[in-house]
Amino acid sequence: MFPDRQAERREMVEAQLRRRGIRDERVLRAMEQIPREGFVPAESRFLSYRDDPIHIGYAQTISQPYMTALMTELLELQGTEDVLEVGAGSGYHAAVLGALAATVVTMELEPALARLARENLARAGRDENILVVTGDGSLGYPKFAPYDAISVAAGAPEIPAALLDQLKDPGRLVIPVGPRADQDLRVIWKRNGRIESRSATACRFVPLRGEEGWR
Ligand code: SAH
Repeated sequence: MFPDRQAERREMVEAQLRRRGIRDERVLRAMEQIPREGFVPAESRFLSYRDDPIHIGYAQTISQPYMTALMTELLELQGTEDVLEVGAGSGYHAAVLGALAATVVTMELEPALARLARENLARAGRDENILVVTGDGSLGYPKFAPYDAISVAAGAPEIPAALLDQLKDPGRLVIPVGPRADQDLRVIWKRNGRIESRSATACRFVPLRGEEGWR
């Protein structure tokens, strides 16, 4: 369906990911295999493997490849996990998570983007273990909780309590937290009933909206 852009993907993996310290071979392999151009609007396909976020409409973006790789690596997925993503957007990050975990539920507040994510995932043949749910992911998705891993693709003022509640023990949550203009990418572990957290990097994401996001 798409022209073979394997060489561009290999170059992206080497120059943008491996060289900057992404080490998880499963993450690198998934990103070398998944056609990112299938998640990018037609008029922006020439940008598919650039080192930047790309606009996908509705004032939203598909994250820079490095950020998708870093967030995914921080979850340390082995293949058996049930994952919740908040902020499906184009569906690209969900496709990467789906290649590395057992199941993915990805939530999207904007109905048109939820439809886009569903279409993109189906066209790429990646929809088998991925469910796109339209709704407010700042409240998580209790129906299939708890989750082994949660990945939030939008900046939150604080860590939403619902997401901590819906995280398994042991489990991991990756989320950008902080003021609208600059956040901290935080990794949170739940282990033996305790919560630990560290900051992975400074970052800048679109705002998390909804009940436990920016109103
Ligand atoms: N992971 C996406 C990029 C997401 S950008 C990709 O790979 O393309 C962040 C997305 O979060 C936007 O689509 C935005 O609409 C969505 N969003 C913001 N607040 C949300 C909320 N409370 N619940 C679900 N989605 C939300």
